[in-house]
Formats: sequence, structure tokens, C-alpha cells
Amino acid sequence: MSVHSPVLIFVPGSRPADPAAPALLVTDLAATRGDGVFETIGVFDGRAVNVGPHLDRLERSARMMDLPLPAREELSAAMEAAIAAHDPVAELTVRVIVSRGVEGSGEPTAWVHARAADDWSSHRAGMRVITLDRGLATTAPRTSPWLLAGAKSLSYAVNMAATREAVRRGARDVLFVATDGYVLEGPTSTLLVRRGEDFLTTPVSAGVLPGTSVGTLFAALQAEGRSAREELMTVADVAGSDGAWLLSSSRLAAPLTHLDEAELPVDRELTERFGRLLTGRD
Ligand code: PLP
Repeated sequence: MSVHSPVLIFVPGSRPADPAAPALLVTDLAATRGDGVFETIGVFDGRAVNVGPHLDRLERSARMMDLPLPAREELSAAMEAAIAAHDPVAELTVRVIVSRGVEGSGEPTAWVHARAADDWSSHRAGMRVITLDRGLATTAPRTSPWLLAGAKSLSYAVNMAATREAVRRGARDVLFVATDGYVLEGPTSTLLVRRGEDFLTTPVSAGVLPGTSVGTLFAALQAEGRSAREELMTVADVAGSDGAWLLSSSRLAAPLTHLDEAELPVDRELTERFGRLLTGRD
């Protein structure tokens, strides 16, 4: 355990609980089926970033799974309580988790968990990334919505297995590729690509999560009059690009040094600027 104790708050009512003591029933559908949704929110110098977009995405994931959610105000209050109860640290990771509840109850179980963030510094310095087949076409959200492509569900075992496969192959992370040849996202991150002065990401309609981090960067780039948009890209497009990053709320902007065997240019200054924008420090 880290020197900073994690904080656990149940919803509704923002009930604090001991994170080191048993808290969930073994028949909770989070445990028996991975049936639920979650969000991971970054808190930098005590300020939670993109809370609204994260709660919007939680609602979107829940809609895709016909999952009832506690009221948004209850979730926000629990999040605030968790942040206030944690020791002040430079980087805090807050998870909001909602499961379909105890089997047969029909009532969701919801909780917020805050802990000092993992150390992402080596990712932020640059990563070797491999491509892995995700086994779904970019048309899957339309043809097979029950596969939940683009929902942030609790069933992340596949995402974690892909990350272990990257490590087995001497890399740090993964870029998933659809069966029709287009790149998608990382197991826990969104792809951002630079082509000249254009910044590109995978369309959400292809079955990726609507990333809050890419949303922040696109808003900043567009405010400067730069082009930032969704576009379907192949592996060759990314390998031959002017730079690529995997983005997420906790890792921030991690530049790719390599995609499979191809070496990519890394712009340290721009990466640092992205980091400041994503922590709200810009
Ligand atoms: N895609 C997937 C599959 C993720 O799990 C995540 C975040 O954890 C992201 C993208 C990035 O989302 P955000 O930038 O909102 O953290």
C-alpha cells in the first residue's frame, strides 16, 4: 500500500467506509459478471479535471448497458467527499464505479475510490507501442451494439490482457486495430496523431470511447485556429505521421517512440504543453 491511504465513499449519502475492510457482497454483479460501468478522473493539485465530461460518459456507458445510475448530484458529492478526505497529493486518481448491484436486488451499487496516482513518468517520457487486432470491425457499434464497443464497462480483463501482451513483446502499450484495418484506441487510452498542422483521432462512431483528454486538447488546438478532427486512419498512416500520443486522464499525453518497428518523431515541448493542458495547469 502507498503511504497515502486510499479513501472509499459509498453512494448515495456519501457514506465513508474503510477501504481495507470488506465492503462489497460476493453476489454483487461487479464481482460475479463485471456488469457495471466506471470512470477514472485525474485530480491535480486538488482540482478534479473534466468532471462534467466524465459523468456524461458514465451516463453514456450506462445507457448502452441499460444500467440505472444514482443521481448525478449524488455521484458528484461522493467524488468531492473522496477528494476532500484524501491527503493532499500532487496527483490523485479517483474512480467512480457503478455496478448493476447485488444479484436480484435491482438496485445499483455505487462507490468512489480515491488514491494517490500511479507513477506514469516513464510512459510520459515515450513508449514503444505494438498494434494488436481487436477482432471487431469499425462497423461493430452499428451491427453488434451488444458488444458494447465504446462503453467503459467493468469488463476490462481483455484490455489488461492486451497490455500484458505488449509487455511480453518488449513494448509498453497497445494500439488496437479493427478487422477492417483502421486503428482504434489503446486499452486505456485515446489515440492522437499529428499530420503536419492537423491533429487527428479515431471517430467515436468506430467503437472507441469518447475521450475526455482528447476533448480538452482538441478544444485548445481549435481555439488557436488549428485543425483537430476525427478521421479513420490505418496503421501506415500512424507509422508515417509527424507524431502520435496515447492520452488518458491519469497518464496525460504519452508520446509513441515506436509503433511496431516504425520509429516516430517525438516533440517533447508539445508533449509538455499537452500535459499542462490536461492537468489544468496551462
Ligand atoms: N479509451 C479507453 C478504452 C479508456 O479506458 C480510456 C480511459 O481510461 C480512454 C480511452 C481515455 O479516456 P480519458 O481521456 O477520458 O481518460
